[in-house]
Amino acid sequence: MDLQAAQIRIEQLKEWIAKHDFLYYVKDNPQISDQEYDQLMQELIQLEGNFPELLTVDSPTQRVGGEPLPFFEKVEHSSPMLSLGNAFNVDDLRDFDRRVKQHVGEHSVKYVCELKIDGLAVSLRYEAGMFVQGATRGDGSIGEDITLNLRTIRSLPLKLTEPRTIEVRGEAFMPKPAFEKINRLRAEQGEALFANPRNVAAGSLRQLDPKLAAARELDIFLYGVGSLEGEHVDSHSEALDYLETLGFKVNPKRRLFASMEEVIEFVEAWTLKRSELPYEIDGLVVKVDSFAQQQELGSTARSPRWAVAYKFPAEEAVTVLEDIEVSV
Ligand code: NAD
Repeated sequence: MDLQAAQIRIEQLKEWIAKHDFLYYVKDNPQISDQEYDQLMQELIQLEGNFPELLTVDSPTQRVGGEPLPFFEKVEHSSPMLSLGNAFNVDDLRDFDRRVKQHVGEHSVKYVCELKIDGLAVSLRYEAGMFVQGATRGDGSIGEDITLNLRTIRSLPLKLTEPRTIEVRGEAFMPKPAFEKINRLRAEQGEALFANPRNVAAGSLRQLDPKLAAARELDIFLYGVGSLEGEHVDSHSEALDYLETLGFKVNPKRRLFASMEEVIEFVEAWTLKRSELPYEIDGLVVKVDSFAQQQELGSTARSPRWAVAYKFPAEEAVTVLEDIEVSV
């Protein structure tokens, strides 16, 4: 492909991705599958890699998420809430491992492996142990204040076991049984069915009336710390254990591994048994455990270099919804 053809294709991809970002992040009503979206994004990443002179700062490959909705108060995150680089097969995971080791210059890297919950990324702020503010990821720097809606999630502690000032990050989601129940009720009442639990969770948390979120039986897993005053932890695995002692719900399926080959075995096992879970996952997240190594690796504008999201293959997808009107 020559430069001119690449430019035309890049413009087309940017336009499509911008349209689907709007439908997904702002409308909570995507019209293509995540796998189709990921293919568009991968093609754009590849073309920008081959023609770096065509890379612009407004490219979706350089940005996180969508715009915050104007009718919510805006919240500035204490540190950016980034996206994650993707791995689509085990070779991508091995490449990630090689890049990490090249960068940190040593061969003992431990990895934490977590389920990638398919919901809405949120940030929770506690002052002296009390829940004071919750926000969406938004564009990564500025999110929407959805405190009142988050307070309706029963598993979200309103008070911690210690009087800590802390900002934690996690994924709010709708468990499968709650999703099935809500669609059964809607079917009985002749209402349009919801497309998938992710969109209902995201749509419910971005409603102006908290009663609506309260009726939706949402849940939350916490998986990271944005900022923490007065406690010293050296690794991601310790941080997750500490979040648990504070009273947060942390996914129990997480595991710490000493090699990428063990990570790959874990990833392959979950690829086969993901449907057994009572909530939806779209992959697994692999993170360098040591905070010192994470700091050395740093981040790009869009994602940390110390983590990667392994996405399940397309044939696992069940997103065909013909003859059903879909709404949130
Ligand atoms: P991402 O989904 O690839 O990964 C980042 C997100 O993973 C985080 O923000 C967090 O919300 C989530 N996550 C879940 N469990 C986690 C854990 N244990 N640790 C860390 N993070 C965890 O990136 P993204 O920027 O949120 O979204 C991009 C993805 O969204 C696309 O790859 C696609 O799947 C989907 N999307 C789909 C459409 C569509 O039209 N179908 C449009 C836009 C985006």
